[in-house]
Amino acid sequence: MGGLMAFDLDGTLTQHKTPLEQENRCVLDELRGRGWSLLMVGAGQCTRIFEQMGRYPVDVIGNYGMQYSRYDAATGRLIPVFDRTAPCNRREIRRRVAGLRERFGFEAFCGESVEFHPSGCVTFPLLGTCAAQADKLAFDPDRSRRRRIYAEVAACFPEYTVFVGGSSSFDMAPRPYDKRYALAEYCAARGLPHSRVVFVGDDYGLGGNDEAVYRSDFGFVKIDDYRRLREALGAWLSGGAGERSF
Ligand SMILES: [Mg+2]
Repeated sequence: MGGLMAFDLDGTLTQHKTPLEQENRCVLDELRGRGWSLLMVGAGQCTRIFEQMGRYPVDVIGNYGMQYSRYDAATGRLIPVFDRTAPCNRREIRRRVAGLRERFGFEAFCGESVEFHPSGCVTFPLLGTCAAQADKLAFDPDRSRRRRIYAEVAACFPEYTVFVGGSSSFDMAPRPYDKRYALAEYCAARGLPHSRVVFVGDDYGLGGNDEAVYRSDFGFVKIDDYRRLREALGAWLSGGAGERSF
C-alpha cells in the first residue's frame, strides 16, 4: 500500500474559497498515517491553496499544472519549483469574447469584459469583473446556463482548455495544461504508475476542472459534498480499498 492521493481543494476539502476545517484536516492526517502520499492539484495559485489550507504540509500543483511548489518541513514554507507562464494575445481574446457576448446576449457587464492572469490563464466573467457577489451567485447555480453554451465557447478557444468556473464565468488554461496533464507530468517525473494514483475531486461534470482527470486512467473518488469527505473516503481510511487496489 502507499500510493499517491491527489486532491482538488474547493468543493472537495473545503467550501469554495474558505479555510480548511479541522475535520477534513484530520482526514488528510489519517490518510498519511495509512501510508498515502498527498498532493494538491488546484486551479488556483499554489500560495493561495497553501494559505487556504492553513499551511497544511503538502506539495501543491497550481494553475492546472503551470505551477508546482514543494513543502519544506524545515521552514514550514512552500518552495516554488516551477512557475510557468504562457503568452496571451489579449486583443484577439477580447475580440472573441466580444463575439460570444453578442451571440449569446451577454453584452451588459460590470467592470472588465475579460480578466487576464499573469500565468496566461484567462477568465471570461459573463457578468463582468466587477459584478456584485449576489448577482454572480444567482446567475447559474446549477451551471446549466453555462453548460448549454459550453461547446460553442470551447470551440472559440481551441488553444485553451475551457472550464465552467466559479459562479458565473468560464476559465481558460493554455493547452496542454489541465489537472490530468499536471498529474501525468508529476507521475512521469517520479516514475509513478497511474495505477497507484487516486484523485479526489468534486468538479467532474461537463466543463468541470476535474473532468479531465475523471475521464482519464487515474483512479477517481467523486465528492458531492465536502462535509462528507470522510464518508466518501471511508474505504480508503479503513484500509480495505487501498489494500485491494494497490
Ligand atoms: Mg473543486
